Amino acid sequence: MNTKRSQELFAKACRHIPGGVNSPVRACKSVGCDPVFIERAAGSKVYDADGNEYVDFVCSWGPMILGHNHPAVVAAIRETLESGTSFGAPTSKEIELAELVTSALPAVEKVRFVSSGTEATMSAVRLARGFTGRSKVIKFDGCYHGHADSFLIKAGSGVVTLGIPGSPGVPEDIVKNTISIPYNDPATLEKTLRDDKLDIACVIVEPVAGNMGVVAPAPGFLATLRQLTAELGIVLIFDEVITGFRLSLGGAQEYYGVQPDLTCLGKVIGGGLPVGAYGGKKEIMDHIAPDGPVYQAGTLSGNPLAMAAGAATLRELAQPGFYEQLETKAAGFAGELAALADKYLPGQTTLNRVGSMMTTFFTPGPVTDHASATRSDTDRYAAHYRNMRSQGIWLAPAQFEAAFISAAQSEADLALALEKTEWSFKQLA
Ligand code: PLP
Repeated sequence: MNTKRSQELFAKACRHIPGGVNSPVRACKSVGCDPVFIERAAGSKVYDADGNEYVDFVCSWGPMILGHNHPAVVAAIRETLESGTSFGAPTSKEIELAELVTSALPAVEKVRFVSSGTEATMSAVRLARGFTGRSKVIKFDGCYHGHADSFLIKAGSGVVTLGIPGSPGVPEDIVKNTISIPYNDPATLEKTLRDDKLDIACVIVEPVAGNMGVVAPAPGFLATLRQLTAELGIVLIFDEVITGFRLSLGGAQEYYGVQPDLTCLGKVIGGGLPVGAYGGKKEIMDHIAPDGPVYQAGTLSGNPLAMAAGAATLRELAQPGFYEQLETKAAGFAGELAALADKYLPGQTTLNRVGSMMTTFFTPGPVTDHASATRSDTDRYAAHYRNMRSQGIWLAPAQFEAAFISAAQSEADLALALEKTEWSFKQLA
């Protein structure tokens, strides 16, 4: 595959941008190659600067659940664009998206829009601290909640991919106030919450982890979390930046039937434009400025183009049967993928899937937490990534991420991906 133009662009980008990228994992360091630069996308495909075509399983790290350039989303953006791009004043578009979000998620009585998932989680934690008057945050090893200071302790995604335990630049005081414990370990959870209960403001969790690769919550884990936090007056925050509107219209909280106090959203709700959101019970949300004392603001928050793209996306997702079809497609694909792994790499891989998000780990498994996820042979993943990219299949350039099924992927796309997977697994065997 010719990637000459991408190589030139990367050399140029490195002169102007740290590492040549604006988000670390894009640099492809952990998979031992240089990035290719994407020029355009349509439906289930992305196209690089040299004109190579790839079937896309990254979906911009989650948002593009409908595929790229969905006609309804493009039309909504175009129409909004005609009226101006940013006013820094309230618009009706914000109400439209807020109504769509609050009607899909009963636990979200009020919602505040921001411009990224990081802003959503950072603001939700501040709100939980302001509401409870407590300082400590409990998170789980391998979960990723964006790059705010409080979360860069035993975090997932690029932090685990690059082997960074925390991050220089995060002050000791912040580190002291963040306690990270193993995912899916109710005994440690209960002990930690009861020991420190008077100073814990919140527990933040990915209800399905997507940033140590996909790891499902063990049966009863989320219910235990809910019960303990309610008993101890601790705010429970579900970080549904990936799972919100991906697992179902009501997100992981609907999928598992557990309602948090606060919910963080991002990715899908922006339809490919920069949007994040946090919302929850009125009694908590009313502590946010201007009605309450907890400050949070944003020049571009509620940006009309982003609101329009988000609303158009959510309307498509609300069509009857959308999630059922996605589940059928994802289950069929995952079944065939697992069969190929069993045939060529017997006992050497684990496929975790929840709905349309999945990860193949190169370890016998089971993969239930950060410790078991990081047993995956990342060199093997890297070789698989390079194989697949060379054959026109676009996977995440890191092991500890999800592969996403989108509504745009056709049977032919998935058949091609399986054919190339078979070829790659044969090389790895
Ligand atoms: N929370 C989760 C679960 C995420 O996966 C991410 C990003 O991948 C974030 C928060 C941060 O979102 P953003 O990258 O939009 O700041």
